[in-house]
Amino acid sequence: MVEARRWNLLNTVFLTLTLSIALVAVPWRLATSGIRWSEALVFLGMTWLVGTAISGGYHRLFSHRAYRASWLVRFLFLCFGAAAFENSALKWSSDHRVHHRHVDTEQDPYTIGKGFWYAHWTWVMEQSGRPISGVADLERDPLIRWQHRHHFLIGAVVATLPLWVGLATGNLVGHLVFGLVLRIVTTHHTTFLINSAAHTFGSRPYSDATTARDNWFLAPFTYGEGYHNFHHHWQWDYRNGALWYQWDTTKWLLNLLAWGGLVDKFRRVPRAAMTRARLRMEEKRLQERLALASPGIAQPMRARLEAARLRLDKALEALHDRREAWVMKKAEWRAKGVAQAGAWGEAKAEWQSSLVVLRADLKVAWAEWKATRAEVRSALVYA
Ligand SMILES: [Zn+2]
Ligand SMILES: [Zn+2]
Repeated sequence: MVEARRWNLLNTVFLTLTLSIALVAVPWRLATSGIRWSEALVFLGMTWLVGTAISGGYHRLFSHRAYRASWLVRFLFLCFGAAAFENSALKWSSDHRVHHRHVDTEQDPYTIGKGFWYAHWTWVMEQSGRPISGVADLERDPLIRWQHRHHFLIGAVVATLPLWVGLATGNLVGHLVFGLVLRIVTTHHTTFLINSAAHTFGSRPYSDATTARDNWFLAPFTYGEGYHNFHHHWQWDYRNGALWYQWDTTKWLLNLLAWGGLVDKFRRVPRAAMTRARLRMEEKRLQERLALASPGIAQPMRARLEAARLRLDKALEALHDRREAWVMKKAEWRAKGVAQAGAWGEAKAEWQSSLVVLRADLKVAWAEWKATRAEVRSALVYA
């Protein structure tokens, strides 16, 4: 028997009404008055502040504990996050942790399995009856408890800040349309795109165990959250765009805050682990294609491909382990207050020479892997 869908009236009315008003009011304003500098700046500023509070606060800090933040940062993220009107940080994190734990299954609150629009926003409009659970760690924070009790009021106060600019500039209507209504709609749908588009479009460089995808196009609109395949694989990492050239304004802001001493204890996956995961996926895809080729060509290639990947994997791991061991040794020596320059210099020289060997080995392993991969690819063309 199909269960009748029950709607959450408040959420449904709020989501559809704000969107409808924006769809009428924004073109009307643009056609009659255009857009002024202050309107554009207030809209962009509020969009970025609220979106970053969701990305850096609700998501990476509260849901995933990817770093530690001072009370001031937590307070600001909670205030601006409330203005997203996406529920309290406690409820948001509870749902989000369930999403990660049960991704792509029936228990996933916004499973993409129920369709793009369901994952995007229909799930918000449904009466879920899902209790707040799995967030006992967050409930211990008095600031989070305070925000949970008053999130709608806090959100209303913060969201209406643009109206004060409107009053000061004698342009209340313009700031109401762009700074309040359009900003709310933009915040909603940029967050929602992660659950819909980042589970539908893009690549899966680190794992194909889930539907989560890396999508560089989404990253600028989502404050860096577009790299969702990376995120699902290492959800506790404070970055989503982990590579230096990947657009992640939230990561950049957090780095700046760390420099100012306001956040610390960043959790990061080592670069070697990322490369190894990428290689495993690359090999898996080539092996899948080889499985379809004629056995005469495929058999020897399959074994060679696996061997080359394993060799490279080992070389990456060895270099990484050596580096880690050195970091630990340095910390140990520092803690002991070892000041014997001679012993220290000797250990350093030994470490550096072992690095030279490991780097050379890695270089050979890379070359071997690239050559094997190229051979497999060209064999597949004729297979
Ligand atoms: Zn996801
Ligand atoms: Zn997440």
